[in-house]
Amino acid sequence: MIGNVYQTVCPGCNMGCGLYIREDDEGALAVDFMKSSPANLGKLCRFGMKLAHHYLKATSMVDGKEVSIEDAIKAASDKLKGTDVTMLGVGNTTNEESLAFSKIADTLGTAVNTGMGVYSELPTECHPTVGVGITLDDIESANRIALFVDPYVQYPLLVRRILAAKKNGASVVSVGWKDLHLADENRYIDPDLYESELGLDSESVIIADVHPNTDPGWVKRMLNLALKTQAKILFMKPFVNATGVDLLCKGTGQKGISEIMDGINEGSIKTLVTLNSDPIELMPNSDAAAETLKKLDNLVVISSRDSPVNKMADIVIATEPLCAKAGSFMNVEGLLLNNSGESTTGIDAMSTLSQDLGGEAMDYPNLHNNVLESIVQKYTKPKYKELACEVLDIGPVEEKGNLIYLFNPFMWFDEPDDNDFVMVNMNMVNKLGLGKGSMIALTSDAGTMNIRYRVEDMPDGLILTAKKLPVATGWTTIVSTEAV
Ligand code: SF4
Repeated sequence: MIGNVYQTVCPGCNMGCGLYIREDDEGALAVDFMKSSPANLGKLCRFGMKLAHHYLKATSMVDGKEVSIEDAIKAASDKLKGTDVTMLGVGNTTNEESLAFSKIADTLGTAVNTGMGVYSELPTECHPTVGVGITLDDIESANRIALFVDPYVQYPLLVRRILAAKKNGASVVSVGWKDLHLADENRYIDPDLYESELGLDSESVIIADVHPNTDPGWVKRMLNLALKTQAKILFMKPFVNATGVDLLCKGTGQKGISEIMDGINEGSIKTLVTLNSDPIELMPNSDAAAETLKKLDNLVVISSRDSPVNKMADIVIATEPLCAKAGSFMNVEGLLLNNSGESTTGIDAMSTLSQDLGGEAMDYPNLHNNVLESIVQKYTKPKYKELACEVLDIGPVEEKGNLIYLFNPFMWFDEPDDNDFVMVNMNMVNKLGLGKGSMIALTSDAGTMNIRYRVEDMPDGLILTAKKLPVATGWTTIVSTEAV
């Protein structure tokens, strides 16, 4: 039996790691390495290696019953006509599908929200610097790298770039939450001292990230640091096409995912349409997000993947798996990466929906040409003025701990991983009297849970997790701690 082989890009983050997905005649999927891929030269992290699990196919549904895609589209257009609609597309699909989704938004008199609320808090002139980063090769030629992410956990294929830079003579300073072995220095310093203490100049590179739960004040601080030191800056992002979708949606006037959920809770948002974007997976507390979505009058999901939101949706329009789609993605360095798939099921579905709603017909070749004309951009040096910023205080709270999410690909898709522990420092172990075999009980407004722990070198009072926990109410949560 000869299987189908798709050349595609890993959806785990915005590195844009290329790979092959092989499908046999029984529909089973396997991952193959793609040595010619520019971003990763064939290497994959654990998420990429386990990608076959990610491709659970979606099924078209109306009110919980399996239907044809045509019936799902018809039911969606009936629901959406004359309704105030909020649309969410974070960038988990191709540029071409994202553009088709934007055109439907135009027809409905609304805009696609990328869920990255930080953009609406930033002056427009900052968007290019946050949107398209430096090339990954630029990292390797830096003289100094300041890390504000944990590359091992959050963006694993960055590690080989940083190690290559070190081989070329770069020094690495980590300003993250815990000590990193690859860093020459691990600094926990007052953010006001970054400019004077980190030793950055125009040959240096700052690596930070933006995601749907990022504190805008923190992004402004990073932008100021790049401006004042003249260092280049790279904002990593969690979704395969987060860069492309931001350029297609122009970045401004965007609602963040939390703002959308607040709008649903307050009753100002009654109809939500999502494109390969699951709020249950994207929000820090999945149970609370699911409760919020129940308050909608209409939830329409357009998705290639079976995920928790599909089970709650009034309508699911199921499209082909990501690897089978015709289309392109833009990675963090602004590189346009093409899928070898030729299927246009998703685009054709959105074209029919668009026409049913009174909008234009769309086809893949035209959408692809539009993408090539409108979004190919290059990194631009910071061209903004210093920004006023207030950064969220996440220092230790007396007698309590601060539980912080180390967002990573497994968390963004709520996929199982073996991170069944939190990270704490030795002072917390001693203070709580944690002994061999004991666990930590974490208590917040959302409840109590017991979990194993691992000791790391990190500041007092912080508790890090690389797995979503039901006690978390945001990406940072104040918790009481005790030994059990
Ligand atoms: S999750 Fe990110 S780093 Fe890992 S293989 Fe996928 S794209 Fe590469």
